[in-house]
Order: sequence, then C-alpha cells, then structure tokens
Amino acid sequence: MSFCPSIEYENPETIKRFQEDRMRDTLKYLSIHSPYYKRLFQQEKIDPNKIKTLEDLTLIPPTQKKDLQLYNDDFLAVKREKVSDYMTTSGTLGNPVTVFNTENDLERLAYNEAISFACAGGKPGDVYQLMTTIDKRFMAGLAYFLGVRKLGCGIVRVGNGNPELQWDTISRVKPDTIICVPSFILKVINYAEKKGIDYRNSSIKKAVCIGENIREQDFSYSLLSKKIKDKWDIGLYSTYASTEMATTFIECEQGHGGHHHPELIIAELLDEKGNPAGKDEEGELTITTLGVEAMPLLRFRTGDIARFHYEPCGCGRKTMRIGPIVGRRNQMIKFKGTTLYPPSIFDVLDHTDAVENYVVEVDTNDCGTDEVTVKIGCRNQDCIDVKELKDSFRAKLRVAPEILFLPVEVIHDIQKPELNRKPIKFIDNRNNKKNDR
Ligand SMILES: [Zn+2]
Repeated sequence: MSFCPSIEYENPETIKRFQEDRMRDTLKYLSIHSPYYKRLFQQEKIDPNKIKTLEDLTLIPPTQKKDLQLYNDDFLAVKREKVSDYMTTSGTLGNPVTVFNTENDLERLAYNEAISFACAGGKPGDVYQLMTTIDKRFMAGLAYFLGVRKLGCGIVRVGNGNPELQWDTISRVKPDTIICVPSFILKVINYAEKKGIDYRNSSIKKAVCIGENIREQDFSYSLLSKKIKDKWDIGLYSTYASTEMATTFIECEQGHGGHHHPELIIAELLDEKGNPAGKDEEGELTITTLGVEAMPLLRFRTGDIARFHYEPCGCGRKTMRIGPIVGRRNQMIKFKGTTLYPPSIFDVLDHTDAVENYVVEVDTNDCGTDEVTVKIGCRNQDCIDVKELKDSFRAKLRVAPEILFLPVEVIHDIQKPELNRKPIKFIDNRNNKKNDR
C-alpha cells in the first residue's frame, strides 16, 4: 500500500471530481443504512440521487452536535453485532455521545493515521512514543497505535503525564518521534533539566503535536512552540482531528497547515448564517465523512472555526490545507467591534511570566454587547506591568480586556481543576449564551 496517495498530488479539479464520486457513494449508503439520514431525507424531501456536486451538498441541512446526542442510536448504520469498538465524544447537552466503529472503520482509521504520519515525514522502521491516553474511550490514542503499525513502524505506549517514565522509555527504546500535547513537551524538558538528562542529544528528532496550536494564522511559530524550539530544536508537526471526523489534518515538513485527505472527508467552511464562507474567510469547519461504515456523518458542524488555504504546497501536494483552529464557534466574543476567541486571550496570558493562573469571563453589558474581564492570580502584583500587559493584548487582539488581580488560591477555586480534566479558563455569563446547536 502506498502511504503517499496519488490523489493528493492531482490538480484541484481532479480532486473535486474524485470527491464527488465518493460523495455520491456515501449519500447512497446513508439513504439505505442510516435511520437518521433516511428520516432527514424524507422530512426535507431531499432526493439524494439529485445531489451530484459538492455545491449541491448545501441543499442538505447540516447535522448539529446536539442531533448526535438526541438521536445517538439512529446514527448507527450497521447491525449492532458489527460494531468492534465503542468510543465516546463529549456532548453539549450533558451526556457524552457514543461513537461506533466497525472492523472496516478501524482499518480506515489506521490508514488515515498511516498516511498522516507519512505526510509528517514518518517512514517504515521509525519508532514512536505515545504520550497520550490510549483508553478512557478516546479515539486518538488508539488511532495513533493502529496507524503507526500500519506504516510499518514501532510504538511504545507510555500514556500521558509522568516525565520520569517518559525519559526512562526514551533511554531504553530510543524512539525517533513523540506524540503529545505540545505544552507537555515543556514539562518533559523541565524534568530533563532538573535531572541533568542530556535531552538535546536524545534519540528524539520530532514531535507530532495534538490539541494545542503550535502556529499562528500566518504559520509562524506560536509563543508556546517558540519556547519549545528555543530549548529543544526538534521538528514540530501540528495535527488536528476529532472523533466525529475520524480523519486527521496534519502538516508536512513545510508547516503550512494541515493537509486534507480527499479520500476520507469532505470539508466545508460555513459562516455564522450557515452559508458557505467566502474563499479567504474563516468559518465553521463542517465535514462529511467518506468510507465510514458504522456512523457516517453528513455535513456535520464541528464547532471549530478555521481558514482554508488552497495555494499548492512546497511538498508537491495540491490538497487544501487547514490553518490553526481559531476557536470554538459557541465561544465567539464580539468585544469593542472585534471578533475574538478565548484561545487568543489565553495565549497572551500563558506567556506573561508572573501570571500564575487566570480565568477569562465574558458578560453582557447594559448595551447588550459582550464585555471581557480577565481575572489574574499572581503572587506579586508588582511583577506585572498592567500597561505593558494591555499593550500585549492590543498587539495581538487589537483590543484590551478589563484586568482584575486576585489571590492565586481564589482563581484556583474558580477553576475547579479537581472536578474537571482540565482547569476551567473560560466562563460565559452572557444572557444569550451561545450553545452548540
Ligand atoms: Zn505540504
């Protein structure tokens, strides 16, 4: 099997026609096997045979995250006994959503990750160290495990956290590549420095980074990845995926956005009204899975805001590339005429040294517009120059939020880290709180 699919090197018109063929197969499959989509086609009087081009897809109403939750079992398009693996993804109405996978779906996942790792410079014989969870009903760790093996590589599954065990494994197994959340790399470096480990001369040559942006919108390194590169000059490759998509967008060595795999997914960007976003505009990533058997999704709105890039890539691929995720649609803030997303506010705070912890709160003010307050916990308030901090906000966001200093312990209590997987950093008190639909 080739791990550099030839379709990715074809011209955009050929890629589009290829996707339309796959799309028609998918629509036919859904109209026969998916109780949810059969009902949708009936209710909306849609004849799937008449949907022939990618443009025609806009005739079908998108699937929202809440639909998955309300009608979870109706999305299952195979008999229950064909389901090999059960995963969950977080819902927006409280309960998680079950995501079903058949044997063929797991094979598709393996293929997806194998071509993704190959795109990021992986080759047979490499050894990967998995620094993320493989269980707890998550898709990602399992997908990496399957994909690494499919590519003809070795993998050592250490799991998340535990820098001591990570370094012990690196010294024993001598992996080439780590798969991890990028901020964890700083912890791994920190531990190595404390213990006198010569990390710069270790076997690690690159990291596949998930869950956090390592680049700005212009593809320059973010503050986080600059911090990593300053200490440890390994290759950093950004990867973006979600359980519902069951598909990965990953950077090649050019580092100019995550490459689209046209054989696995159709990707659209929608504006706030649900119409196709303009060519250079950001919008909500909306996907149609291709080749998924158990739980295929048609025009699923992911909630993630991003931009697409179409110019040919230096690696020779001619597929679209997705830029760093700008934020979640339901967390969009309109502040003093500027559209903001919490991650851009976090980014400034994460890189202000004296800030120990923080929460960003958004409220509706008397005029009915959004108001942003940043509550900062720091040991010594004198260490932070408020004017300088506001200037950093203006440089990055064009506007500066209200800043309030509080004891570190008070912020810690607000964040409730003991109840959540991650501490709460964003609190939405708006009247018309925008829920994920
Ligand atoms: Zn490329």
